[in-house]
Amino acid sequence: MSSEAEKAQAAASAADTGAPTIFDKIIAKQIPAQIIYEDEQALAFRDISPQGPVHFLVIPKVRNGLTQLSKAKEEHKPLLGHLLYVAAQVAKQEGLSQGYRVAINDGPNGCQSVYHLHLHIIGGRQMSWPPG
Ligand code: 5GP
Repeated sequence: MSSEAEKAQAAASAADTGAPTIFDKIIAKQIPAQIIYEDEQALAFRDISPQGPVHFLVIPKVRNGLTQLSKAKEEHKPLLGHLLYVAAQVAKQEGLSQGYRVAINDGPNGCQSVYHLHLHIIGGRQMSWPPG
């Protein structure tokens, strides 16, 4: 098992606690992050461990039960749409005119390690398919 998969399996035990995550500290500006977009609902910042020349995350500022995509409820639909729209706008801002990958890792099998919903946007290189 890869170390990323091991990390994801270990993180799953915290999945349902709703405990604060590292992203809460980024939202509260208690720890530094390279924030590249912000509005009332969403924040986009560069991933600390980039998997491509451009790799940023888009997150909701208020988690409101959205620890992971599979917890989405009807009430989250407008926010989910907004996060995707922000992803596309920031990708444009980042100059990703040749395309990019948008990924949401869900749960231990999806390799999720932070239980605050986030979209990965990775670009600036040729992607392959299928993902590992
Ligand atoms: P996941 O594995 O849950 O889909 O993705 C979590 C992502 O958050 C990882 O790509 C990881 O590199 C990133 N990450 C974790 N901690 C920090 C941090 O403190 N700052 C930033 N900018 N990214 C982080």
